[in-house]
Amino acid sequence: MGFRSRLSLFAKMILACAVFLAAVPASAADLGQAVAALFEGQADIAVSPPQGEPPMGVVSQAGKPIAWYGNSYALMGSVGYSGKPIDVMVVVNPDATIRAAQLLTQDEPILTIGVSSDALSTYVSGFSGVDVRQPVRELLREGAVPDGVAGATISSGVIRDAILRSGRLLADRANAAGEGLVAAAAAAKPDWNALVAEGRVTLRTVTFAEARKAMPGAKTLPDGEGTFAEFAVARLNDRTVADALIGAKRFDRIAPEFAADETILLVASRGAYSVKGTAWVKSGIFERLEICTTGKTFNPTSERQHRLDQLHVDGAPAFKEVMLLGLPASEGIRSDAPVDVTLVVDKTDEGASAPARFPATLPPITNAAGSPVAQQATPPAGDADEPLWRENWREAAGDLALLTVMLMVLFGALYVSGPLVRRRELYYWFRTAFLLVTLVWLGWIAGAQLSVVQLIAFLQSLITGFNWQVFLLAPLIFVLWAFVALGVLFWGRGVYCGWLCPFGALQELLHQAGQRLGIKRIEVPWEVHERLWPLKYVALLVLIGLSLQDTGLAFRAAEVEPFKTAIILHFLRGWPFVLYAALLLGIGLFVERAYCRYLCPLGAALAIPSKFKIFDWLIRRPQCGRECRLCATTCTVQAIDPIGRINPNECIYCLKCQVNYHDAETCVPLKMRARRTAPGPVPAAEPHGN
Ligand code: SF4
Ligand code: SF4
Repeated sequence: MGFRSRLSLFAKMILACAVFLAAVPASAADLGQAVAALFEGQADIAVSPPQGEPPMGVVSQAGKPIAWYGNSYALMGSVGYSGKPIDVMVVVNPDATIRAAQLLTQDEPILTIGVSSDALSTYVSGFSGVDVRQPVRELLREGAVPDGVAGATISSGVIRDAILRSGRLLADRANAAGEGLVAAAAAAKPDWNALVAEGRVTLRTVTFAEARKAMPGAKTLPDGEGTFAEFAVARLNDRTVADALIGAKRFDRIAPEFAADETILLVASRGAYSVKGTAWVKSGIFERLEICTTGKTFNPTSERQHRLDQLHVDGAPAFKEVMLLGLPASEGIRSDAPVDVTLVVDKTDEGASAPARFPATLPPITNAAGSPVAQQATPPAGDADEPLWRENWREAAGDLALLTVMLMVLFGALYVSGPLVRRRELYYWFRTAFLLVTLVWLGWIAGAQLSVVQLIAFLQSLITGFNWQVFLLAPLIFVLWAFVALGVLFWGRGVYCGWLCPFGALQELLHQAGQRLGIKRIEVPWEVHERLWPLKYVALLVLIGLSLQDTGLAFRAAEVEPFKTAIILHFLRGWPFVLYAALLLGIGLFVERAYCRYLCPLGAALAIPSKFKIFDWLIRRPQCGRECRLCATTCTVQAIDPIGRINPNECIYCLKCQVNYHDAETCVPLKMRARRTAPGPVPAAEPHGN
C-alpha cells in the first residue's frame, strides 16, 4: 500500500470515529411546551408565547401573570467558549426569584462529551430559588448559586451568567411593565413624537429671542429668530424608553458601564449653543448642565459619560451631541421623583449681567398603569455585575501572576539558554521541575491545557464573526495562546510542546520514570518514523474539514486529543476515554512522546508556523550525523534526521541536544578533540556513539 493510500485510510478512520462520536443526540426542546410542563396540574394556567424584543413570554393563572419566561440566547445572546449559542430557558417569579432553569442547547466541547447530563441538569436546575436582583459576587460569596460542573469551569460560568442575566432581564421588564407586561412587550416601539407627547422624553427649545431676553446686554447673541439651543433629556432606566431611543441590544451592551443604582440620563442637543461646551475636557465637569432633584443640585461629570453618534428613533431631530450620563444614587436621584435638567448659559464676560438658566423637567418613571415606579429601576443586562470575562480575569489574578512568572522564567531560559545547557545537572533539574509545574499546576490544578478545539473555535469565529469576549472568558488560555503565538516565531512549536503542554509533560515524565525503572526505549526506524509523523497533519486537516461542515462533530472528533481525559478531568471519565489515554501513555513509555510525534493535531497546527521561525539557535557540529549520531538517538522526539539535520517542525526545543553539544563527557567530537590534544596515543574515532 502506497503512502498516499495509507494517508487516506487514516483520514477515513478518523472520519468514521468522528461520525460514531457524533451520534450523541443534541438536546432540543420547545420553549412553550417546556414551560407549560412546569405548571402541569395547576388550574387555569395560560402560557403566552414569547413576544417583543427581546422576546419574553408570560404565564398567567386565572388571567393574572404569575411568571415570566424566555430563553437566554434570544434574551441576551448567550454564547459559550465554543463561540456557539448556549441556550437556557429561564422562568422568573414575580418576586424576582428563579422558578426554573433548563438547558435547551449547548455545543461546548467539554460538556458535549465528558460531563454527564445528570451533572449538567443538576447544575442548571440548582439555580431555582436564586434571587436575580443580588449581584453575582454576593451570590457566590453566600454560596447561593450551585458550584460549577467539575472540569468545566468556563462553560459553567457562561451558563451561570446566561441564567442570572436572563433572569434579571425578565424581572426588570416585568417590574417596569407591571400588570401590563404582555401588552407592553407586544406594543410597537413609540416614535419620537409619541415619546415627547407621553413625557418620557423632555424636549426644551431655547430660541434666540428667549436667550436675548434672559441675558440682556450679551453682545454675541445675534438679532433674529432661530434656535439658540435645543436639548432633549430622558431616563434610560425605563427600558421601553431605552429600547425606543437607542435600541435594546445597544443599550444592553452599554449598560454594564454604569452601576446598578445609577440613573442613566440621555442628553441630546443641537443649536448654536453647545450644552457640553469644551471646558469639561479639562475640568471633567459638565458645567453647562445642572441636575436638581429632591433638594440637591449638582453638575454631572465626564467620567460617567458614554457618547453616542445618534438616536435610533423615527422622527428625532438631527442632534449634534448625544450622550448618556450616569447619575449616582447618592445625589438623591429617585425614579419616582421628578428631575430638573438645566442648561446654564454664562455670558457674563460678553456683557450679560448674570448667567441664564433654561430648565427642563423629567417626570418620574411610571408603570403601565401610570403610577410612579418607586424602586430604583436597574438597567436590565447591565447590572452591578461586570461582564463574565472581566469577572474571570479578576478571579484569575493570582493564577495569572503565577503564569506570568512561569512564562518569564521560560522566556529567560530559552532566550539565554547558554548557562543552562552548559550544566547537565542544572538542566536536568530545571527541566524536570518545569515539566512538573506544567503538569501539576498548569494542567491538573489550573486546567490551562491548549487544545485544537480552541483553534477550531477561533477559525469558526473568523467565519461567523470574531468576538473577543468569547476568547477572554478563559484568561490563562488566552495568555498562553498569546505567549505561544509570539514564542513560535522564536522557537517554533517547541515553546509550547517542549515546555508548556501538560499532556506533553506527562508523557515525558512518565517516560523518564520508565527509563529509571529499566523500561527499554525504542528507537523507531527512520523510514517508519518519517511515514508516521504526517498522520498528525492528517488529523488536523480532518478536524478543520469537519468544523467547516459541523462544528459539533469536529469538537467530538477532537476527542482524538486525550487532554480532556488526562488533564482536565483527571482521568475521572468513562472507561473508553481512560483506556485511550492510558494506551497512549503506555506507548509513550517505550516510544518517548509517541502521541506528540504521530497523532497530536495541535502539535501539527503549531508545527506549520514553526517553518517560519525567525531564529535558528540550535547549534550543530559538522560531525553531527556523519561521525556521531548521539543526539539523533537521544532526541526526545527523533527530530534529528540520519544526516544530523534538525527538523524544525518536529523539534520540541527540549535543548537535550544542546546539552550534549556542550558536554565534554558526552559529545563524541569533543571527546575526540580532548583525546587528540591530550598527551599519549590518538584514539580511533567512535562513529555512532549513543
Ligand atoms: S504535540 Fe500535542 S501533546 Fe505533544 S506537547 Fe505538543 S501539543 Fe502537547
Ligand atoms: S533534542 Fe534537540 S532536536 Fe531534539 S527535540 Fe530537543 S532540541 Fe529539538
